[in-house]
Amino acid sequence: MTSSFPASLRAWFADRRRELPWRVTDERGLRDPYRTWISEIMLQQTRVEAVIPYFENFMQQFDGPQALAAASEEQVLKAWAGLGYYRRARLLHAAAASLVHDFGCEFPESSEQLKSLPGIGAYTSAAIASLAFGERIPVVDGNVKRVVARYLALELAADDSKLERSARQQGRDWMEALPVDELAAAGELNEALMELGATVCLPRTPLCEQCPIAEGCVALQVGRASELPLPKRVKKWVNLEMVFLVHRVGARVFLKARQDGWSPGLYEPPSAILTNQVPDSAAAALQQSLEPAPSSGSDSPMQTMASLQNCGVVRHTITHHRIRAHVFLTQSSPAQPGKQWLDPDAVPLTGLARKVLLNATL
Ligand code: SF4
Repeated sequence: MTSSFPASLRAWFADRRRELPWRVTDERGLRDPYRTWISEIMLQQTRVEAVIPYFENFMQQFDGPQALAAASEEQVLKAWAGLGYYRRARLLHAAAASLVHDFGCEFPESSEQLKSLPGIGAYTSAAIASLAFGERIPVVDGNVKRVVARYLALELAADDSKLERSARQQGRDWMEALPVDELAAAGELNEALMELGATVCLPRTPLCEQCPIAEGCVALQVGRASELPLPKRVKKWVNLEMVFLVHRVGARVFLKARQDGWSPGLYEPPSAILTNQVPDSAAAALQQSLEPAPSSGSDSPMQTMASLQNCGVVRHTITHHRIRAHVFLTQSSPAQPGKQWLDPDAVPLTGLARKVLLNATL
């Protein structure tokens, strides 16, 4: 490691820093904690370009913790719809309530205190504390871990907790080399490291000839740059076959809020997981399960099947599930409380439900 590491990296970042709506700074070079928090949570699973319109819309609707806490969960989920991983939106909402009730609407300034808020862990607390309050704490994400693994030539897997610890310790060492009187330096170094990992120290083909820290990089010197960190363990996928039943009345669709599994609280048409049935009979069974108790005049399974229109298959991936969903339109009215006939544009839908509804047209 050279002592000029933080300086050369910060100079490189200053040259290529993009203007982004959450990167607005005050005269000390520090960011607004609320905007930093929302952007960091949105950016966790989504590309920068995709986040920008969601971020701007979110800021218009909820311009601070008070507005976010005062909104209903449904309003927050609706503003989040399309970003996925909806648990993050629920936790944002809960943390806003805690900021209002426990902290008098003021953000706590230390990473330790920030971690007491729902949904704010080591990564987000360090990002907010360094970028908005100048705390000298490293932010460690996948990009930073990759840079550190290569810079120090660590023979560790990308998901090995030892790599996380090494990256944190290395980050603290680099923080100590920053000028003591620059409040914005810690946040800048953190951003620069993440940017380096995202744009130069790329997973498969690192662009070492463009790298501002190439001089001290051990993996480059020993010809191991593209091999480190070592590969993660392989993810185990679960394949699911499902049927969805779509019933429209005018602009409204029969929708149910998910209770568990992926995206609880978001809406979908009724569905069932296929085990050994064929899709048509599973859809008929699902339809009958939504209808009133059998009477002498009720439809037979064959009549029920005849009233279903097969609209094909949609594919969707969520968490570790790979889903094939058979979509059916039905003309038969489920006998459920009226509140479940909803305008799909007015409630937060799962990503899968949006695909299903797109397929289910007459
Ligand atoms: S020299 Fe290459 S491997 Fe080393 S940190 Fe820079 S981009 Fe990554």
